[in-house]
Amino acid sequence: MHRISFILYKRFSDIAVHRVVIPKVAIIGSGPAGFYAAQQLIKLNNEVVIDIYERLPVPFGLVRYGVAPDHPEVKNVINTFTKTAKHSRVNFIGNVKLGKDVSLSTLKEAYHAVILAYGADKDKEFGIPGENKPNVISARRFVGWYNGLPEDNTLLPNLNCEHVVVLGQGNVAVDVARILLTPVDILKKTDITQYALEALAQSRVKSVHLIGRRGPLQVAFTIKEFREMLRLPQVCTSFKTDQMAGVKEIIPKLVRPRKRLTELMVDAALKQNKGNADKMFYPLFLRSPVSILGSGDVTGVRLSVNTLEGSDFEKQTAVTTEKYEDLHCGMVLRSIGYQSTKADPDIPFDLKACKALPAPGIYSAGWLCTGPVGVILTTMSNAFEAGILVAKHIADKSIDVSQPKPGLDYVKQQLLQKGIQTVSFSDWERIDGVEIKRGKEVGKPREKITNVNEMLQIASQHR
Ligand code: FAD
Ligand code: NAP
Repeated sequence: MHRISFILYKRFSDIAVHRVVIPKVAIIGSGPAGFYAAQQLIKLNNEVVIDIYERLPVPFGLVRYGVAPDHPEVKNVINTFTKTAKHSRVNFIGNVKLGKDVSLSTLKEAYHAVILAYGADKDKEFGIPGENKPNVISARRFVGWYNGLPEDNTLLPNLNCEHVVVLGQGNVAVDVARILLTPVDILKKTDITQYALEALAQSRVKSVHLIGRRGPLQVAFTIKEFREMLRLPQVCTSFKTDQMAGVKEIIPKLVRPRKRLTELMVDAALKQNKGNADKMFYPLFLRSPVSILGSGDVTGVRLSVNTLEGSDFEKQTAVTTEKYEDLHCGMVLRSIGYQSTKADPDIPFDLKACKALPAPGIYSAGWLCTGPVGVILTTMSNAFEAGILVAKHIADKSIDVSQPKPGLDYVKQQLLQKGIQTVSFSDWERIDGVEIKRGKEVGKPREKITNVNEMLQIASQHR
């Protein structure tokens, strides 16, 4: 008896002397950056509690809503994110948008530190006449449409045309071109949305031009994605022969991976042969759009013919000439990159570079920090760095953890007052289960739910 009271006394006095303050960190955005930053931080700090807020009721950002449906292997990262989400010191809070449902100032009151990882949800524009015509669509929204992003599920791209022009030569441009040219029999086994599948089954699209302002040595797409285009059944890739002239001779001066990609392009240009292909893929270089043509619907794109300036291949810039040419088409997809926005007025933000800036207690990770470039692996490295930095700042007291912070309870109270339904990770797993079940019924890995109200309704069942 005596011994037990001594132990209790000892425990109590320990607590009284070293009052333990649990570091609390909010992460905004549940894409790769949010999850990788969380993963690193829980690994490096044994006490920290992390709350991941997400504007949608469902997690995983562009892994769910960007990565192409015919690239299921890329989505395996979701397994790692799920492990992190299920960690005892990590919470997922879906359906909460920073800048609308919760403010940065509230988060600063509730947490010792905030990591902003909300990506880039706008796209760059050309600012040319006709850019806002119907059927001139950003690739970002077209991707959102076929991947079931709730705000894009009503997009209704008009595929009742034979020729499509994609402006830009990055991997997103190749993704949208591939989805337009892939036989529907292949797509129907993926998690592409049912409405997109039906629209693509009715599509009359026969050719896609992929337009770059610079030359074949400066394309932004990568070899794996280009090789996929070459392997598409019934599709012929065709280059303008004069645009590939002299490229082979430059190959020895290039370094990998540009060297291997250029070799493949040169090889494809030599082999181009329509054979029995019924669809065409035309990479076209040294062209910039100056206007979208058509008095009502889109009828084409006017392009300036460009030349290149500068001696370093990678850094050569495009210069327009007085020459123009018109390309006939019924649909234009603009794919010249994404852009981050300032989600809350208090976010330290470089408006010119469209990136978040660091400030005391405020960190950023992923595309919001680096700009909208880089694959998941690149984003992972950047987010790991953010996690490491926050762990270091907690340890060296650059982040003030002397006083306890109310964390999730405080934010939840405010959300409750506003009548906002939050979605936990187990709620998401319920949505996930329904999607997988619906997919099974039609031979797909999942049938995505594309309506927020339906997601919320499923999330709240069996509570
Ligand atoms: P995101 O993935 O965009 O995540 C940001 C999250 O924040 C989202 O969930 C968003 O809903 C949420 N959010 C936004 N605003 C708020 C707010 N105000 N409040 C709360 N939450 C908010 N990489 C590959 O390696 N392989 C591929 O095949 C591949 N395909 C791609 C296809 C496309 C179309 C695109 C655009 C990119 C692709 N990438 C691919 C790149 C990869 O998706 C990115 O590197 C990565 O997703 C960036 O991660 P992120 O967390 O910074 O941003
Ligand atoms: P990106 O790779 O930066 O490509 C943007 C393209 O737009 C480039 O061809 C660029 O040409 C062009 N462009 C930019 N501004 C322009 C302008 N004003 N006029 C004409 N052309 C312009 O961007 P992204 O395709 O959006 O991809 C974003 C990131 O996601 C990339 O890192 C990409 O690799 C990644 N991603 C990966 C995959 C995959 O792994 N399968 C799939 C999709 C996306 P210049 O080079 O001349 O600027």
